Amino acid sequence: AAGSFGLRFDNSYVRDLPGAWLEQAPRRAVAPKLLMFNRELAEELGAEPEALEARAAEVFSGNLLPDGAEPVAQAYAGHQFGGFSPQLGDGRALLLGEVIDRKGERRDIALKGSGPTAFSRGGDGFAAVGPVLREYLMGEAMAALGVPTSRALAAVATGAQVLRERPLPGAVLTRVAASHLRIGTFQFFAARGQGDMVKRLADYAIARHHPQALNAENPYLGLFEAVTAAQARLVARWMGLGFIHGVMNTDNMTISGETIDYGPCAFMEGYAPATVYSSIDRQGRYAYGNQPQILGWNLARLAETLLPLFDADEDRAVDLANARLEAIAGQFRAEWLAVMRAKLGLAGEEDGDGALIGDFLKALEGTDWTLGFHRLADAPDAAALAGLFADPDALAVWWPRWQARRAPDFAARMAAINPVYIPRNLRVEEALAAAEAGDMAPFHALLDVVTQPFGERPGLEAYALPAPQDFAQGFRTF
Ligand code: AMP
Ligand code: MG
Ligand code: MG
Repeated sequence: AAGSFGLRFDNSYVRDLPGAWLEQAPRRAVAPKLLMFNRELAEELGAEPEALEARAAEVFSGNLLPDGAEPVAQAYAGHQFGGFSPQLGDGRALLLGEVIDRKGERRDIALKGSGPTAFSRGGDGFAAVGPVLREYLMGEAMAALGVPTSRALAAVATGAQVLRERPLPGAVLTRVAASHLRIGTFQFFAARGQGDMVKRLADYAIARHHPQALNAENPYLGLFEAVTAAQARLVARWMGLGFIHGVMNTDNMTISGETIDYGPCAFMEGYAPATVYSSIDRQGRYAYGNQPQILGWNLARLAETLLPLFDADEDRAVDLANARLEAIAGQFRAEWLAVMRAKLGLAGEEDGDGALIGDFLKALEGTDWTLGFHRLADAPDAAALAGLFADPDALAVWWPRWQARRAPDFAARMAAINPVYIPRNLRVEEALAAAEAGDMAPFHALLDVVTQPFGERPGLEAYALPAPQDFAQGFRTF
């Protein structure tokens, strides 16, 4: 036996939701080599880090299953760029199971890139080193920024090549999440007319993520409200950081309210609401400024799956759903205002805050999002930022209004929420290219920088700067 490495598996998804998964063993990796191991997270999970690290290449390639792991591919559907696919599912991922961590919390451990499953459709089931390390870095950066997110536990090179436009070194990512329940999981059963499974799933989601919903008169409305609150809070945090998820399909939106699926995501550099970094998003559906709209659209798709649970009478169910859907824009706005007030060092709430924030954003257009907020905190006056802001006159007009409104300790407040270091696109690309060529040093250096995002540190100036214009112009993540 492999041993448990201290991991306490308790696989409730497999136990409670038959019909929502298919058993599937990982494909054997030919020559697994450990690229990254997240020791801190391993400890958080209750693992014995030395024992686990000693066998990490085998365990995190899927070649050696820890005792208690029961690998399955999860079923889900989803709207991709607005079009519905009734069956997506884990085409290259496997849920190993759930562990109860040191705090007693239940967390999924899943492999990504571990080979084909019954849900692979046209795909090969594999992943390449570059995208695996990209997800590793982005998730760890988001965690350090305080955003609810899946985390990376390990990355292993498989020793095999995967075929993309050119052959690339293959890899497996091990990720940890509160769960992988998605809006698309509900859609899978609703689309098949399996109302009993939608109800089971809803009960499971309530128990696992939103137990307060049981206090509601109708717990399923309570569930919908809890997911709405968690997702609105999440997207507001993204907006504050200039984070563009890039593929807000309903299969990538969690019930827990964590960010998952770091594919074509990126942090915006020059502020423009229409910014898109993914070449497959041709219409700009998932552009930076559209994310709040899409949040509402996705939640409407969740509501559709829950209608029969809202009320047995269809008209009444629709009325109940509509009342909640109409409230989302206001709920999001409140979350967003809270984030933006904090970013500008405002204490309390005043009527003019929305206009003050909006006018700052107008002055910020074209300027680096992260630097704009960061430098604002330390600038003696608007003139000191004239070289940074694309529209210094607009900033100068805005400045006295902000000066009158900001909290006495605004600079400290702002430093606590506005990062200095984010995963900058050029830096990420350089680190991934080096890793692909076998040199992990730039990746380690960048990971170290972005996992301590607040406060300037000496010698790291270059990591805080946006890419030159010629790189930024054509930059695409995917
Ligand atoms: P994503 O865009 O990463 O959220 O994936 C959407 C769907 O495509 C999911 O069902 C994935 O499992 C599947 N998928 C993505 N890449 C692959 C691959 N290389 N092989 C098999 N399935 C894949
Ligand atoms: Mg996905
Ligand atoms: Mg993906």
